[in-house]
Amino acid sequence: MQVSVDQEACVSSGQCALTADDVFDQRDSDGVVELLDADPPQGRWRDVRDAAAHCPAMAITVRE
Ligand code: SF4
Repeated sequence: MQVSVDQEACVSSGQCALTADDVFDQRDSDGVVELLDADPPQGRWRDVRDAAAHCPAMAITVRE
């Protein structure tokens, strides 16, 4: 799995960091997403897929 984020599209909702805090974080200054792990282990794929599906800005891309 390869994960990427679009910081320009992100609206700082924080859903992704709540769903998978080992993969996504939020920038302290404005809450914009920060990618912690672009190649998460298979055990985290389900949560990463959920985070991408529920991102209100569709700012998370997952390639498998
Ligand atoms: S869920 Fe989407 S909009 Fe919200 S912080 Fe994460 S990437 Fe940004």
